[in-house]
Amino acid sequence: MNFYGQRVLFLGAHPDDIELGIGGTVAVLANAGVRVVMAIVSVPAEYEVRSAEASDSAAILGCELRILLEGGCKRIEDLKNYQLVGLLDELVEQSRPAAVLTHGPTDFHHDHVTVYHATVAAQRITQFDLYSYVPTMTRPVPVPFAPNAYVDISSTMDTKLQAIAAHKSQFYSRGLAFEYYRDLARVSGRMVGVDYAEALAVDKIVFA
Ligand SMILES: [Zn+2]
Repeated sequence: MNFYGQRVLFLGAHPDDIELGIGGTVAVLANAGVRVVMAIVSVPAEYEVRSAEASDSAAILGCELRILLEGGCKRIEDLKNYQLVGLLDELVEQSRPAAVLTHGPTDFHHDHVTVYHATVAAQRITQFDLYSYVPTMTRPVPVPFAPNAYVDISSTMDTKLQAIAAHKSQFYSRGLAFEYYRDLARVSGRMVGVDYAEALAVDKIVFA
């Protein structure tokens, strides 16, 4: 992943999805001089609190934050498909990313799968490499995911956990734990001989 000086877009349906699934990679790329955009499609509840937490997290990861359905609580399932596709078309048109990393098609959360399909459709706007990150959930449940690419996040493992912890309303008051994501990164790291890694499924990649 050598995107120095280029823009890479990370897409998540909700606040904290990106941090849980691929936050270490966000920080790795940001540290490497990539122009990283973290785009959240919707904030379904507690808009002020959760958008402020997302902003804190983006500062920790060193990336730009965009909330596509900004200004108030909205749910993705209230959008028509063409509206969501239009939203992502516009984002891709404006940002012209070299790569997009988003949810995968096997996620158990319907919003995540919907965002994946809208991202697939956005490929007709412009060429970008497309990757899916691991299904994300604050209470993990087993769903299929077959990674075939890995990013070494040994240098940003702690940054990822700090970014997750910035979502205080999710992980403290509700008593949820996120150490699971360190365990997951350790297992992925073992697959490729590093301390910690994040796993990806490649949808499309162009070798220039
Ligand atoms: Zn989500």
